[in-house]
Amino acid sequence: QAKADGRGLHKVFNQALEATVARRQKVEKAVRQGYDLDLFTLEFQPLLDQTSNLCVGFEALLRLTDEDGERIPPDEFIPVAESIGEIERIGTWVLKTAMAQAAAWPDDLFVSVNLSVRQFESQELPELVSELLAQTGLPATRLELEVTESLLMHDTDKIGRQLADLRTLGVSIAMDDFGTGYSSLGYLWKFGFDKLKIDRSFIMGLADSRGQASDVLDAIIALGHRLHMVVTAEGIETEEQADILSAMSCDQMQGFYFGRPMRPVDIAPFLLNNVAATRRDNKKTSVPK
Ligand code: C2E
Ligand code: MG
Ligand code: MG
Ligand code: MG
Repeated sequence: QAKADGRGLHKVFNQALEATVARRQKVEKAVRQGYDLDLFTLEFQPLLDQTSNLCVGFEALLRLTDEDGERIPPDEFIPVAESIGEIERIGTWVLKTAMAQAAAWPDDLFVSVNLSVRQFESQELPELVSELLAQTGLPATRLELEVTESLLMHDTDKIGRQLADLRTLGVSIAMDDFGTGYSSLGYLWKFGFDKLKIDRSFIMGLADSRGQASDVLDAIIALGHRLHMVVTAEGIETEEQADILSAMSCDQMQGFYFGRPMRPVDIAPFLLNNVAATRRDNKKTSVPK
C-alpha cells in the first residue's frame, strides 16, 4: 500500500514537472518566433494629470500572442526573453514602435517605455535612443524610460553613466514600481530620476488600513517632490481610491479606473472623450461669477 502511494505521488510530481517544462517550452518558442512572425504588439495605458484629469501621456505595454492565439502575460514572457537573450532585439522593437506611434500623437503627450536591466548591460542605450529619436522624429522631451529598482543593484557606474547620457539627450527617466525593491534612497538621489512611480501595492491598501497606508503614500509623495521628481500613482482601480488620491498631492494617476491598456486605434477616441469629460467637470466645479 505504502509503495503504491509513493508511486502515485511520484506520478503526480512527474506530471507537474512535465507541465512546467511544456509551458516553458511553449513560452520560449513564442518569444523566439515572436519577432519574425509579428506575434508582438503594443498596448498603451493613459496617465492623467492629477488636478485637471487631462491625459498627459501613455505607457507602452508589450503583448505576446502565440501561434495558437493565446495571450502570454509579460510577467511570464519577459523573464524568459531575458534569460534566452532575446530581450535586446525585442526591447529595441518596443522602443522604435512606441516612439514612431507617439510621434503621430498630439505633441503635448509623452510616451513611456519599460526597459530591462539587460538592455543597459549589453547595449549602449544612449546611442540607440538618439538614433531612434532621429529616425522617428519624436522630440526627446516626449520620451520617458522606466526602470525598476533592480537596476541599481547592478554595475552602477556603467548604468549611472548611461542614465546621465540619456538625460542629457532630454529624455526623462522614471523609477517604476517604487517601494517594492531594494533601492537605497542614496541611489535615488545620486542618479537623479525625473519621475517616481509608486507601486500599486501602496494604492491597494488605501481603503482598509485606517489611514496608515495613506500616511505612507503621503510620505513617499513628499520624498519624491523633495527630490524634484514628478510623482505618479499606479494601479488605481476604484472610485474610492481615485477620491483618496485626488486629495493628495501626487502629480499623475494611472490605473484601470482611468483607462485600461488599449490598442493604438482606441487612442484617438479616448483622447476626445477625455477632453470632453474634463470640460464637463470644469463647468460643474467652477464657481459662477
Ligand atoms: P509595469 O511597468 O509596472 O506596468 C504596469 C502593469 O500594471 C501593467 O501590466 C498594467 O496593465 C497593469 N495595471 C495598470 N493599471 C492597473 C490597475 O489599475 N490594476 C491592476 N491590477 N493592474 C494594472 P502588464 O501589461 O501585464 O505588464 C506587467 C509588467 O511587464 C510591467 O509592469 C513591466 O514591468 C513589464 N513590461 C511590460 N511591457 C514591457 C516592455 O516593453 N519591456 C519590458 N522590459 N518590460 C515590460
Ligand atoms: Mg512601467
Ligand atoms: Mg509599474
Ligand atoms: Mg511592474
